[in-house]
Amino acid sequence: MTRPASAAEALKSARRVVVKIGSSLVVEADSRGPALGWMASLAEDIASLRTGGRQVILVSSGAVALGRGRLGLEKNARLDEKQAAAAVGQSLLMQAWEQALTPRGMTPAQVLLTRDDTERRRRWLNARATIEALLKLSAVPIVNENDTVATEEIRYGDNDRLAARAAQLARADLLILLSDVDGLYTDDPRRNASARHLPVVDTLTPEVLAMAGGANTEADVGTGGMATKLEAARIARSAGCATLIVSGLTTRPLAAVAAGARATLITAPATPLQAYKSWIAGSLEPAGVLTVDDGAAEALGAGRSLLASGVRRVEGRFDRGDCVRVTGETGQSLGVGLAAYAADEMERIRGRHSGEIEAIVGYKGPGVAIHRDDLVLTS
Ligand code: GLU
Repeated sequence: MTRPASAAEALKSARRVVVKIGSSLVVEADSRGPALGWMASLAEDIASLRTGGRQVILVSSGAVALGRGRLGLEKNARLDEKQAAAAVGQSLLMQAWEQALTPRGMTPAQVLLTRDDTERRRRWLNARATIEALLKLSAVPIVNENDTVATEEIRYGDNDRLAARAAQLARADLLILLSDVDGLYTDDPRRNASARHLPVVDTLTPEVLAMAGGANTEADVGTGGMATKLEAARIARSAGCATLIVSGLTTRPLAAVAAGARATLITAPATPLQAYKSWIAGSLEPAGVLTVDDGAAEALGAGRSLLASGVRRVEGRFDRGDCVRVTGETGQSLGVGLAAYAADEMERIRGRHSGEIEAIVGYKGPGVAIHRDDLVLTS
């Protein structure tokens, strides 16, 4: 893969894009209601990305701010009041996205996550499968934190980080952070006229991170500043996803970037699938072993998924999504992967054809023992 050399190129070559929209862009400061005109213009951008063959996931803030506006609460509201505001505002937010997307032929889908959904593998697999299904059905997932139930200790805290986790979960190759600045500068451009704009950043060195130092904080409705944007970029980068920091202060902000408007691209050193596979191979401790027959070993070598019919023996205690080792009949290591079924289910479906699995486990699951994307072969 050749690395894109500019923000416009990154936008052009991306396949799956997560667009994060801050509260200050979706909520009008005066009316405290949704910025319907701007949202409609972003919907035009999203429609044109999709026409160009890209899948788009939105991460939209604004629930708390819209809810506060509707309820007449001030910024210093108590935590339970903020959570109540999120309950009111989330539905206003989805109504506004509905108004923006539906006339342009798109179907919005509300996805509310808490930190556990991306940190516990089982829930993470579920969330991932739902997002995949939504994209396959051509809907536009609109993600937000489930602020009504998430309190401090179980929160992502800000939607920049949530967006990076969503990009990782969905294996997106581009994360776009729409903000109130057009990228990263060597210093705060509002205070230092000689601050230089950085169009492309290939490594997040301590010097680069220091440039964010508390500067460029958004208007008073959101929570993210430049430091959280770079933290989001760091998470995305390690998942093989590049990040664009783009100004959302104009209409059609993505069309502007495509036409060469100023933005910062933070590149990623690998593809999402490479990063995902090196995470499976490098950071997970196998919790069990699947011994497979020669036919299955051969199929794996040809890049196929591991079918239950080829599994001879199941050892260890593992849950769905846990890492297991795959070995051949003579005990040679073939690789590691994430089990698509828990150990007790695997024991019941081993040696059986894919078509029989549903009747055995009692639900319509993935149908394979390990999906090929979740499998790393011993080279
Ligand atoms: N999830 C919050 C909301 O929708 C916003 C958090 C953030 O902007 O970082 O109001």
